[in-house]
Amino acid sequence: MERIQLSHGGGGEESGKLIRELFYRYFSNDILLAAEDAALLHTGGKIAFTTDSFTVSPIFFRGGDIGKIAIAGTVNDLSMMGAKPLYLSSSFIIEEGFEFEKLEKIVASMAEELGKCGAKIVCGDTKVVPKGTADGIYINTSGIGEIVREGISAATIEEDDAIIVSGDVGRHGAAILMEREGLGISGDLRSDCAVLWGVVESLLAADIPIHAMRDATRGGLAAVLNEWAVQSGVCLEVEEQRIPLSTEVQGICELFGFEPYDFANEGTFIIALPAEYADRALEAMRSHEAGQKAAVIGKATHYKDGKVILRSAYGSSRYLDLPKGELLPRIC
Ligand code: MG
Repeated sequence: MERIQLSHGGGGEESGKLIRELFYRYFSNDILLAAEDAALLHTGGKIAFTTDSFTVSPIFFRGGDIGKIAIAGTVNDLSMMGAKPLYLSSSFIIEEGFEFEKLEKIVASMAEELGKCGAKIVCGDTKVVPKGTADGIYINTSGIGEIVREGISAATIEEDDAIIVSGDVGRHGAAILMEREGLGISGDLRSDCAVLWGVVESLLAADIPIHAMRDATRGGLAAVLNEWAVQSGVCLEVEEQRIPLSTEVQGICELFGFEPYDFANEGTFIIALPAEYADRALEAMRSHEAGQKAAVIGKATHYKDGKVILRSAYGSSRYLDLPKGELLPRIC
């Protein structure tokens, strides 16, 4: 079995071979293949720029792998800012002895996700560290997107805005927890990991005014709503029975005593927009796989305390607080 050696990160012959035969093959584009010290990029107007490191464990999980998440994570952060993802960098830190076959699977999965949004990897780096000094593989991706719609910001959320979630919540966190605990239950449970640019592009193309948009990654739905409530000063009220939740995620949460709204997502996002546009937004979102279960879950109510209120089906209500501590390390 072919394995990654220290020399694959040494900058010499073996490095060159790895770059040519693996990275160039899957990420091929003129800018990358120019093989200069830096990529030369053309962008028209204002750009968005973001970066993220990925250390997810296990590296392969139901619904994705570290490569898929490394592309989706960065592409989604650009998309949430109303930016069309264009150019990405990709930097690998690989543990000596890592199986080549696994690396190829990860790179192939990155290429597949790039194909879904049209973004390109235009520069990259590979370092190999001695066995035992890293856990398999870590990936950093940075990305640049061209702003298609300006002004999307939590600060613009207004009273009476509708709050929409694009799909059922908590699947990524629950899927990772299931893998780690070796649980065989939960038949259909898989991570929601997905590139969201397609859904966002449809929303923007339909000229739907969007006040705020954020992917509910670490900290889940609860974190996004709390961040928004604080940033905008509004109170956000959500109705528990309207929040899409699979029975598998619900089951795992009950088993471990977790709050499903705290669980991470990797292909689910939240929107705040004027209520009169909610139906059109749902229509645009539901035409995409990642938005099929999109639903209005609540609204912004009054400019007071920057709190999030969760109303149950039985008429009771409670504050939905920010998740505390580290629920699950190395979730992404
Ligand atoms: Mg984000």
